[in-house]
Amino acid sequence: MKIDIVSVFPEYFEVLNLSLLGKAQAKGLVTVQAHNLRDWTHDVHHSVDDTPVGGGAGMVMKPEVWSECLDDLLGLAPAIIAADAAVDDAVADDAAVDPSRPVLIFPNPSAPLFTQQDATELSHADHLLFGCGRYEGYDARIPQYYRAQGVDVREYSIGDYVLNGGEVAVSVMLEAITRLMPGFMGNPASIVEESYTGGNALLEHRQYTKPAEWRGLRVPDVLLSGDHGKVDRFRRDEALSKTSGLRPDLIEGLDCTQLDKADRKTLMSLGWEVSGPHPRKR
Ligand code: SAM
Repeated sequence: MKIDIVSVFPEYFEVLNLSLLGKAQAKGLVTVQAHNLRDWTHDVHHSVDDTPVGGGAGMVMKPEVWSECLDDLLGLAPAIIAADAAVDDAVADDAAVDPSRPVLIFPNPSAPLFTQQDATELSHADHLLFGCGRYEGYDARIPQYYRAQGVDVREYSIGDYVLNGGEVAVSVMLEAITRLMPGFMGNPASIVEESYTGGNALLEHRQYTKPAEWRGLRVPDVLLSGDHGKVDRFRRDEALSKTSGLRPDLIEGLDCTQLDKADRKTLMSLGWEVSGPHPRKR
């Protein structure tokens, strides 16, 4: 996978040379290149922002600088698009990735939430290009223009809070995406049973390691029983109960036909009705 990142602080991404992503780069599984947006400016101050049209506080990132940069990185010629060709933000951000097309991603706090499902989908792409916003954000015509040019453009928020810039958000998305690439994890089984993962996704059960007793706290006895069936059931019940308490929206999204008898019993004991297509709180 080829990853380009555009930022006014490209040094920020030196951290990506560490840990598993660093190893994946060394193995040639992924190449990451951070570019300085200011390299595409022509004025003496290398300015990338201007005042908002219509007034208001702060500065907005200029479309001309971004387009020169993105045209270069995407190998596109500049174009004038017809006003009615502009594709608005309403484009689904969860569509399937076509690996032969680059995906241009802008972090944006007012975009749909980035989820594990998005990370899974994007892990199939061959080329991802991230654009980090700063100030009040980037001119809204930038994603519109590249969508109209036929580029797969996606905008995602990483949560309901506002950061100073897109760099942290890009690091979050990059880590979530790349760890799902085949060959990235030493033990691929470790990404199969995780929170938010798979068809009937739940929060993961609690994890423990040795010693069995630590500072007066014991791990649950069943985990020491050696009975794999009982251990699996205990973990599954814990995942159901934890998810029911913290993320009832995930329980409401479960497909009841995929639940076994014991799942149904546990959910009913937690106050869920499981006779319909999806669980409903009683
Ligand atoms: N004026 C914007 C608003 O109120 O929605 C906030 C702009 S923020 C200060 C600057 C940049 O940081 C954004 O363009 C985006 O790239 C990034 N950013 C901030 N919070 C984010 C979040 N929760 N998710 C993704 N990107 C975020």
